[in-house]
Amino acid sequence: MDAAAGRNGGMIDAVIVGAGFGGMYMLHCLRKLGFNAQVFEGGDDVGGTWYWNRYPGARCDIESMQYSYSFSEDLDQEWDWTEKYAPQPEILAYAKHVADRLDLRKDINFNTRVTSADFDEDRNQWTVTTDKGDKVEARFCIMAVGCLSAANKPPFEGMDDFSGPIYHTGEWPHEGVDFTGKKVAVIGTGSSAIQSIPLIAAQASDLTVFQRTATYSVPAWNEAVDPAKAAEVKANYPDLRAKARARPTGFYFPFNMKPAMDASPEERRAKYEEAWERGGLPFLGAFGDLLFEKEANDTVAEFAREKIRGVVKDPATADLLCPDNIFGCKRLCVDTGYFATYNLPHVKLVDVSKRPIERFTEKGVVANGVEHEVDAVVCATGFAAMTGSFDRIEIRGRNGLTLKEKWAGGARTFLGLSTVGFPNFFMITGPGSPSVLAQMIQSIEQHADWMADCIAHMSDIGAETIEPTLEAEDAWVDHVNEVSEISLRSTCSSWYVGANIPGTPRVFMPYIGGFPVYVQKCNNVMTKGYEGFKINGDTPKAECPQIRQTERWRVPLDIEVITPAALAAMRVPVV
Ligand code: FAD
Ligand code: NAP
Repeated sequence: MDAAAGRNGGMIDAVIVGAGFGGMYMLHCLRKLGFNAQVFEGGDDVGGTWYWNRYPGARCDIESMQYSYSFSEDLDQEWDWTEKYAPQPEILAYAKHVADRLDLRKDINFNTRVTSADFDEDRNQWTVTTDKGDKVEARFCIMAVGCLSAANKPPFEGMDDFSGPIYHTGEWPHEGVDFTGKKVAVIGTGSSAIQSIPLIAAQASDLTVFQRTATYSVPAWNEAVDPAKAAEVKANYPDLRAKARARPTGFYFPFNMKPAMDASPEERRAKYEEAWERGGLPFLGAFGDLLFEKEANDTVAEFAREKIRGVVKDPATADLLCPDNIFGCKRLCVDTGYFATYNLPHVKLVDVSKRPIERFTEKGVVANGVEHEVDAVVCATGFAAMTGSFDRIEIRGRNGLTLKEKWAGGARTFLGLSTVGFPNFFMITGPGSPSVLAQMIQSIEQHADWMADCIAHMSDIGAETIEPTLEAEDAWVDHVNEVSEISLRSTCSSWYVGANIPGTPRVFMPYIGGFPVYVQKCNNVMTKGYEGFKINGDTPKAECPQIRQTERWRVPLDIEVITPAALAAMRVPVV
């Protein structure tokens, strides 16, 4: 590992925090343009999400031939995915393969957590400090810390008294866990729970699931990748990638733009059945207005509830498993055999929606006044999403203000990639960008390409600092909020609005206007000479910078700036 530049105190171009897909690609982009960068990563290898989330059943919910980097035709051609939705070990192997191919590890400091980042206003540079005692000075500080990387561990009373192990899905032991013959509790019924519960049930002697909110889930119909189909995709990969970039979701699937209520009940049902047979997130493409019109959403919600009742034999359990909120309000889950698991005699569901889990005891978990004795507990309780990993680092910008203080009332950014008061500070897939509402690796690549171009421009013109203007940031925050209101998603409690963690301000964090619209906005800002930013404290000259990395993100699109009305008219399902 070549950490010499930073560790000896020499100034480097950029520090990157995190070595998931975001940090890895950022490093590659900067190196390609001749910059030097040091990456710090808490884990002992690359992969981020796929390094940490090793729970049974973990896999992607976007087809692997799309959930992968798109910047290299060579990578696309040489990697073979074995399943439609690759399991975690395969995605991790892919991340490691990319690290090998691009020789990334020599600039990554593993097992090292960044604890603070301070901007020195006199010298216009960042000092980044780690838990190993490193102090690295750099012109730019780039956060690739992940939207879903800070595990949410609710502090249940009496946890320390519990005599067995307590696991979190997002921090799963590398050696795996054998639940054979054990009584196990799972807390939570989100995507991680839904993937792991069928596999934990297959091993455990007893499984008790504590459910606070019932979740909709669509079957994955996962299968081995057909080599002929894979060859066909590979023969046209650039085409598929371009189509994916032009989609609001950042990945391609056929969708029906028609409104659900224009169809007769029979036609609607037939469409839902057809989409159910296709499975996965593309189910939301059955009609164009499912996430916009309550009446339409009610029909799909009822269809999904019927499916649950059709599988789960015990009517009381089926009732508990039937959600009564907006379909697709939280990220839609994609499962393999989740609901059928509740037909197994050793699996039981405990409703904690009305009364929260009371406490842990030495022997188990107490809910609704009943002690459930278990040998192990799995917390599938999710993440302090989008802002959690930022909050865990003391990030100090101008006038000593910390990012946590600035965001106390809700995250404020310009384009989700920068924030006022924090010059030369960038976020990959930060709050206010499409991030989790698009195929994340697309979101990551687009951000990293934009940042690399920006850093190159700064070097071209010999500038020292760049940060957004307050007007641009305020306008962006307003726009993100305004657009979110058109979607039914803004009406419910989910981690998109921080509702999963008590005390988090309620703000719709990801940008829901669709990936290509967002990309166009970023491109416009750049081609207008970084409109909305201050360079060296001044409004930049309206000159077109040299575009190096960002060229491939140009997608033909007629809509300049999306308004809620335009979004509603587009009727795009954003998964
Ligand atoms: P991460 O992969 O989260 O990497 C961030 C890295 O930063 C981590 O390794 C972390 O250790 C490190 N880090 C954080 N703070 C510090 C610090 N202070 N110091 C040092 N290192 C630090 N998205 C999809 O589009 N499709 C999917 O199918 C999908 N499935 C998912 C399944 C699971 C179980 C989860 C949790 C998320 C999933 N996501 C999915 C979202 C996923 O997080 C992204 O797709 C993507 O992997 C994020 O990459 P990243 O590099 O931005 O962040
Ligand atoms: P999540 O969706 O936030 O689910 C957490 C679950 O824990 C919810 O059911 C939540 O209930 C419950 N919970 C939290 N605190 C609780 C408490 N104090 N008491 C009882 N229950 C509690 O987290 P996740 O399942 O880890 O998924 C997070 C995101 O990661 C997903 O939305 C998705 O984007 C991604 N992911 C994707 C996949 C995939 O399929 N590829 C798999 C896993 C994760 P409430 O709903 O009531 O808050």
